[in-house]
Amino acid sequence: MARNGTLRLTAFAAVLSGLATGGPAQAQQRTGIGEEAYSNFFENAPEGFIPPPLHPEGVRLRTEELGEGVYALFSDHPGVDNSGFIVGERGVLVIDAHINGEMARQIQSAVSAVTDRPILYLVNTNYHGDHTFGNSSFPAETKIIAHRATAERMRRFEHEREFLLPTVNGDTSVYADATLRLPDITFEESLRIDLGGRVVEVWHFGRGNTPGDTVVYAPDAKAAWTGNLVVGEESIAVVFEGRTSEYLATIARLAGTLDIRTIVPGHGFKTTGATLGRYMAYLSSLLNDVRRAFDAGWTEEETVAALSLEERWLPAADSQLAALRPFFVGLHRLNVQQTYLDLAGR
Ligand SMILES: [Zn+2]
Repeated sequence: MARNGTLRLTAFAAVLSGLATGGPAQAQQRTGIGEEAYSNFFENAPEGFIPPPLHPEGVRLRTEELGEGVYALFSDHPGVDNSGFIVGERGVLVIDAHINGEMARQIQSAVSAVTDRPILYLVNTNYHGDHTFGNSSFPAETKIIAHRATAERMRRFEHEREFLLPTVNGDTSVYADATLRLPDITFEESLRIDLGGRVVEVWHFGRGNTPGDTVVYAPDAKAAWTGNLVVGEESIAVVFEGRTSEYLATIARLAGTLDIRTIVPGHGFKTTGATLGRYMAYLSSLLNDVRRAFDAGWTEEETVAALSLEERWLPAADSQLAALRPFFVGLHRLNVQQTYLDLAGR
């Protein structure tokens, strides 16, 4: 059922091959990011987990028109954040602010290249710094929109700066210019934004990668920006904060509510609505497998070691994405650990 587009792999593989594939395997204190040990997350991740490579150095955002006035911005380093914008008669709505001022200005230049209308709104799809640290570099008149839970988490600004360090090779200069700029508008379930002659929908379908995951939908182009909820063609879900069964329910609600032709993921390659089916199948099998191991009395370590990622979820060994196989293998180990910790009540 899934239609596979042409996959390109450029710098992501190079970045991945430069990253360490290990880390201290087990730590005494284990929790999801949402809890107290927030900044210890990467140390507590299972052996083999590779932090996503988010360093923006040399990254260019490529503009792709998905429909009239609807534009995706795809990073040319596929691990690094994508973005996008939608143009109405009154002005523009931007999706995600990126990681620093330089990248935020790149987004604004991409907007100015197609319209001189003002950026009225900026939506943060989640609280992570790679989606929000660019907020302070948007015009003061731009209204920032986020889910209530995203706005709450954004207040932990210093924690987030620390947390992101492994994803930018420990380079604190990457977001030295970022200051905390909180949303002006928060919402619970959904918002309809009228840009003049064009309505944009902003949705929260429940928690997934974060508590406030937000999807921006352009109905006329049937295009959805999914943030970290769906991270691209041939990917698997990133269960950073546990609650795997809620993640599954969230994807099911998203799939049941919006008619999606194109997904612009927060990271990774452009994909289609069919990827939602893949995510539901992966999350279901993750839940079932971990539950079976837990019920059989296996320890967390035994479960992570035994439930390796099945070949069907990996890019083919001869595909252009083959270099990403170690990343997905490590990510799955994290997903198993997080799912186990849910069942164990953390
Ligand atoms: Zn992200």
